[in-house]
Amino acid sequence: MHKEEIDFDVIIVGGGLAGLISGILLSNHHLKVCLIEKKKYPFHRVCGEYISNEVIPFLEKHDLFPTELGPSDIKRFQLTSTNGLSMQMPLDLGAFGISRFKFDEFLLTKAINSGVTVKQGNPVTDFNYRDDYFLVNTNQEKGLTSKLLISAHGKRSSIDKHLDREFISKKSPYIGVKYHISLDFPSDLIALHNFKNGYCGISKVEGNTYNLCYLSHRSNLKKYNGDIKAMEERVLWRNPYLKDIYRNANFLFDKPEVINEISFDTKPIVEDHALMVGDSAGMITPLCGNGMAMAIHGAKMVSETIIDNWNDGDFDRSKIETEYASRWSRHFSNRIRVGREIQKLFGSTVLSNFSVLLAKTIKPLSRGLMSLTHGEPFS
Ligand SMILES: Cc1cc2nc3c(=O)[nH]c(=O)nc-3n(C[C@H](O)[C@H](O)[C@H](O)COP(=O)(O)OP(=O)(O)OC[C@H]3O[C@@H](n4cnc5c(N)ncnc54)[C@H](O)[C@@H]3O)c2cc1C
Repeated sequence: MHKEEIDFDVIIVGGGLAGLISGILLSNHHLKVCLIEKKKYPFHRVCGEYISNEVIPFLEKHDLFPTELGPSDIKRFQLTSTNGLSMQMPLDLGAFGISRFKFDEFLLTKAINSGVTVKQGNPVTDFNYRDDYFLVNTNQEKGLTSKLLISAHGKRSSIDKHLDREFISKKSPYIGVKYHISLDFPSDLIALHNFKNGYCGISKVEGNTYNLCYLSHRSNLKKYNGDIKAMEERVLWRNPYLKDIYRNANFLFDKPEVINEISFDTKPIVEDHALMVGDSAGMITPLCGNGMAMAIHGAKMVSETIIDNWNDGDFDRSKIETEYASRWSRHFSNRIRVGREIQKLFGSTVLSNFSVLLAKTIKPLSRGLMSLTHGEPFS
């Protein structure tokens, strides 16, 4: 196919933080970008909605910080063990809280204003690399073409099956559950409460709304025959802090948002010439509260690598792939590994008690672990 016949410079699969921000950056550099999202905006996602402040300089520089949505300002951290032993400490870097319902829609508007062609409610069924270009099919359109393809399809998607990625063939034991609640709770605190085989975060987003989101081993739900309410009352409520929160909160959703099969396995950064970014490249355990910052930072990396090597469309594909993959690994591989190790301390009575005690007595240790799972502020 002649270069002039190709529809887009870049097609982006998936419009979460990684996809939307990549789209904005590339479009701002005059590349012709199409972003294809499976769902229709706005929508809720299972996510703790706590974003590390390391991303603020970058978001401000690109006019992407959502000041007008009134994000919360989170400065303190509380950790409790499965039976309610508690410690608190200030957060060195801090975070802001914003619902993905609002933030993603805010970024969607920015993407459209930047000139990105957005196709929503339109799942990509497959894409294939054909001799220097990509051929992309969706449920509604066949044969879209692009010079480069970014796959920002998140933690688990039919795209992973299409690519026959190794992690997708393994059963993953984690489920994620999210609610929005109203509650009398400090607006500057993120609390992380352990329960048997899981942990639950609570922190403020915009308005008077709080996010309550947890990760649990599937065995908890299986024990109560898939009944989430029964599992929460019998398992989560054993932590007195969680019992108190559930009893006093006003739940704002009719039913929780739930996802299954969350995998923390390592994944290739480039698959059949497609550049993976965000959770599709690798997912950090949620207790680190850093997945969104990594998705944003990853979007910056992939876009900068493309822009630096673009050369009016006459780019060296293997150079882009190698440079991006090595940049990604340098910044994120260690963070993901440390996150997996820390998660092992959670969910057991003995280990969670031990880690709270340790965190309480050796504050520099907790600070050190936190800094290993977070990045430096970047612009
Ligand atoms: C329980 C839990 C709690 C978490 N809490 C936090 C937290 O507090 N702080 C934090 O920083 N991180 C948290 N994370 C991680 C964070 O949510 C992710 O790291 C982040 O959302 C990744 O962004 P992304 O753009 O890669 O993926 P996503 O935001 O998941 O976006 C992927 C998009 O791709 C779309 N898509 C998928 N398949 C297709 C297809 N075939 N065609 C078209 N579109 C497709 C999806 O619909 C989706 O919109 C949490 C994760 C979990 C599971």
